Amino acid sequence: MSSTETVAPGGASHLECTRCGASYASEEPHRLSPCCEKPLYPRYDLEAIGRRLSRDDLAGRSADLWRYAELLPVRDPSNAVRLGEGWTPMIDTPRLAARIGVGRCWVKDEGQNPTASFKARGLCMAISRAKELGITEVALPSAGNAGSATAAYAAAAGMGAHVVVPRDTPFPILEEMRALGADVELFDGLITDCAARVAEGAREHGWFDLSTLKEPYRVEGKKTMGYEVAEQLGWRLPDVIVYPTGGGTGMVGMWKAFDEMERLGWIGSQRPKMISVQASGCAPIVRAWEQGTEYAEPWAGAHTYASGLRVPRAVGDFLILDAVRASGGAAIAVDDDAMRAWTPVVGADTGIFCAPEGAATAVAAARLRQSGVIRPDDEVVLFNTGSGLKYVV
Ligand SMILES: *Cc1c(COP(=O)(O)O)cnc(C)c1O
Repeated sequence: MSSTETVAPGGASHLECTRCGASYASEEPHRLSPCCEKPLYPRYDLEAIGRRLSRDDLAGRSADLWRYAELLPVRDPSNAVRLGEGWTPMIDTPRLAARIGVGRCWVKDEGQNPTASFKARGLCMAISRAKELGITEVALPSAGNAGSATAAYAAAAGMGAHVVVPRDTPFPILEEMRALGADVELFDGLITDCAARVAEGAREHGWFDLSTLKEPYRVEGKKTMGYEVAEQLGWRLPDVIVYPTGGGTGMVGMWKAFDEMERLGWIGSQRPKMISVQASGCAPIVRAWEQGTEYAEPWAGAHTYASGLRVPRAVGDFLILDAVRASGGAAIAVDDDAMRAWTPVVGADTGIFCAPEGAATAVAAARLRQSGVIRPDDEVVLFNTGSGLKYVV
């Protein structure tokens, strides 16, 4: 099916504070919850949706993430901004499985999204919903891939896009953003410093800030990875999901999706072990997981060439840690040398030129197999979150 297929109407019933559960109307622009300054999650009337939509109804739908439209926040299908996002392949990789030492391994190849990373999912949803709410100028700080995705979806929606990125952002990504019509500002510093610059622009010029989890809809785009994994495996989940974690939107989004699917009666209560992988040079979630704390202290002096993992402070830290702990998973750091060494290993075993973040998941899986966290008969899904081509300098 192509993306010319029509999209069903959707829409959340309300927004909910992820910290205290307070609810807010979904029909006006929101950022962090006014009560706790924490992320807001869209909630749906799952009982009503479950009565009129069965998982089998999805079979003939469009081969993009809009196949789950009833479970997405965009109300009017004409606001869906579509470039072919989602429904990426789950690639069976027997030689990589053997190398890692597990029964079965799939790579969910998110490099096949528009703008060659899974950031397309989140920004597609945030920008579609911003369009629906009448927003005309968006901005965000980015380590790179989120900027490309913002530029693309803002262009498709006819909105202005302002992207602030660290000066050392990979050149191909800078060229891409400019070619997609974004106003690109280079900044000396990390993504957190760029965020302060965006907040300033938002105050001065009224730009709507699309920073990770600081608005409620990017997570809804990323949660579709959870729906896809289940649907592509015939409505079951794997034993282990290995996910390279920066802001953690994908991790917490999938966790949310599993909960929704269980309430819909589409899956049971079994959950995969959720493995959060970070870079040794920036591993705030791994440190917090090891220390057993609820929140993660910001990481000082963050450095790694895996730009998606260069996130010293995640606003959804407690949600990531909760998913890792509740699933019996783990958090593990991988250094840049190992990512460099494993990129051609994964490539030769699978045919996928992965991003360093994707290579990190393979390294992590092999190490966790050795330490016994992953068992020999486990079925494992690795997330390759972007294409290696974006890191060629
Ligand atoms: C942004 C990014 C990540 C981290 O994603 P989060 O959902 O923010 O944790 C991982 N890999 C790549 C390639 C990225 O661009």
